[in-house]
Amino acid sequence: MSMIKRMRLFIYLMIGVALSGMAFLMCIPFLHYDKMQSYQEIYLDNALYQSVKISDRYGEYLYDGGYSDDEWTRLATFHVLGDTYGSVPGAVLNDIESDETLTIDLSWQKGAYQLLKQSGLNGTILAADFRTGEIYCMVSTPSVDVLNNTEVEEGAYLNKATTCFPPGSTFKTATIACLLEAGIASGTYNCTGREGDVSCLTAHGSVNTIRNKDDEYGDVSCLTAHGSVNLKQALYESCNCGISYFGKTYLTPSQWEKDIARFHLLDNTVIAGCEIASGFVDASEDWMWAMDGQGKDLISPAALACFYGAIANDGIYHPLTLNMGQTLEEDEIMSLGSARWIQEALREGMHVWYGDALDGWGKTGTAEVGDGTDHAWFVCCLDDPEIVIVTMLAGGGSSQRALDITTEFVNCYVREVE
Ligand SMILES: [Zn+2]
Repeated sequence: MSMIKRMRLFIYLMIGVALSGMAFLMCIPFLHYDKMQSYQEIYLDNALYQSVKISDRYGEYLYDGGYSDDEWTRLATFHVLGDTYGSVPGAVLNDIESDETLTIDLSWQKGAYQLLKQSGLNGTILAADFRTGEIYCMVSTPSVDVLNNTEVEEGAYLNKATTCFPPGSTFKTATIACLLEAGIASGTYNCTGREGDVSCLTAHGSVNTIRNKDDEYGDVSCLTAHGSVNLKQALYESCNCGISYFGKTYLTPSQWEKDIARFHLLDNTVIAGCEIASGFVDASEDWMWAMDGQGKDLISPAALACFYGAIANDGIYHPLTLNMGQTLEEDEIMSLGSARWIQEALREGMHVWYGDALDGWGKTGTAEVGDGTDHAWFVCCLDDPEIVIVTMLAGGGSSQRALDITTEFVNCYVREVE
């Protein structure tokens, strides 16, 4: 009996050990949940990245289970595609699930990249159809070659099209839109080169500055006295004093701020499915300069493209998109009358300043950064094809450089395709 008892005990022991072992094995996934999950994710992500295909609007492969063999394609599309580490916020590869056809045109993309590279300046060129919001080109320099990234330039992972910069005079159009929406479409102003407070050349005792009644909004100046300007001329002659005078006379700071937000200029959602940097304005300090795109104003090239695109689209704002066939909600941000007024004023300005350089209308801008360098901007809307283009050159100095690069881009690539 004792033998049988011993055997029974042994069998129970063995069953106990087996059950404990099984229980332990079953606990492993829970004990090491984090590691198991990341192994699974890496394995699945790798499998996805090795099978997924991304092409441009004409079916040209930008990514075919791996990056293109062509170095220029990799460099020109880096900020659109991103990498498998999610280094570029909002990039296509960050949350891709299946094959995708993008709205971009690889030839525009490579052309824009080469033009920026040749200029020796860092910046961005963003071009989109202003009726549909389809992005044809979104390039940023410096770029990263994902297959050869041992030496990466500073700021190369930043997509300048979706980052905010001081907008300079390209922003005057926004203040003008506020005035037009408030029912102010005419008026004249005599620019003496300075508006706001008035300084004495010498100190008269303890008071050396006589401020007029508008001093609460600060002062503003023009590099030259523009003389008598009407509202249209104030816009296209880029008269700081005139724009700020009309603004402070007919608008309130809070009304101006509200309109700027209503125009989607500060939105981080102007590219569908891609969170970008939010813009910033503050009318409580230096409102006079803020109305001219200086001071603390920060706007992304993408938001500026949407705003000018909405003007070209007769007041209807359309978000940008990188995905073919995406239907997005439109928004009427200004009246047809306001939109047509700005189109006409800037068309006249383009003709006065630049002759027939481009078939369309636009606005230049030079934004003081504060460190002695200026960002050069040019925004334009073409008549045919109906494309809005924003060019921004960081530290580019004169806005003429931005206009020249845009003109070359249009003549070499945009018109070629159409
Ligand atoms: Zn002026």
